[in-house]
Amino acid sequence: MSVILNFEIALPMQIHRLPAFSDNYIFVLHDPAQNIAAVVDPADPQPVLRKLKDLGADLVAIFNTHHHSDHVGGNRRLLQVFPSAVVYGGEQDRGRIPGQQHFLKEGDQVSFANRTADVYFVPGHTRAHIAYYFPPGAEEGWGELFCGDTLFAGGCGRLFEGTPAQMVDSLSKLRNLPEHTRVWCAHEYTLKNLQFALTVDLENLHLKNRYQQVQESRSQSRPTVPSDIGLEKQTNPFLRWDQPNLIAHTKSNTPVQCFARLRGMKDQF
Ligand code: ZN
Ligand code: FE
Repeated sequence: MSVILNFEIALPMQIHRLPAFSDNYIFVLHDPAQNIAAVVDPADPQPVLRKLKDLGADLVAIFNTHHHSDHVGGNRRLLQVFPSAVVYGGEQDRGRIPGQQHFLKEGDQVSFANRTADVYFVPGHTRAHIAYYFPPGAEEGWGELFCGDTLFAGGCGRLFEGTPAQMVDSLSKLRNLPEHTRVWCAHEYTLKNLQFALTVDLENLHLKNRYQQVQESRSQSRPTVPSDIGLEKQTNPFLRWDQPNLIAHTKSNTPVQCFARLRGMKDQF
């Protein structure tokens, strides 16, 4: 019996993680079947252009999570090289994202290749921040979350333009995603985040184990991104504001107060 390869079956979307600056990650999504690519938060155009050249792929979309320059800094240059690429961002970032053409809100969907992502409105780090969630494809068990500076591996973004209550609401949306969701966050902050986590979530064995693994990875310069939602729920204090030991440790009366105190402690850490 011979095996017939059916190229009409969509190949899974490939995700390439490109380091940029000192601790940013840029993500290039590639559909080899159509030779097209999209990029999430191009901090710097150069590594993206190099990767597109290697892949021989045309850039068709830029997915921005928020307006900070270490997320949109490559937009203009990429649009010069790929003028038909479409720039997506949050509706409340109107005027702050170079080249933005689509203004997304909670519940909107965006497509790339054969996949469709749900848009989540996740204010807190900035007032306009959004996240992109691709549910698992037909042949994969994993969903893919691009969450910018909202959720980090072991931490969360600073509150520049939002309140603790907003951020808890935003992080709750991400916490509710399936545990088998890869978390493609935009910075390599994991080791420092877990060092902080160990000072507040004292008896958490999952956290201790994770810290050792991350220490080992970083000592060999290996990336710790992507993480996943299951692991984050076990070990990230910024998804554990309602755990009794964290409420007690921060002497809080409510989960939001616990989150706010943890965020304040981390700001000083
Ligand atoms: Zn940011
Ligand atoms: Fe950032």
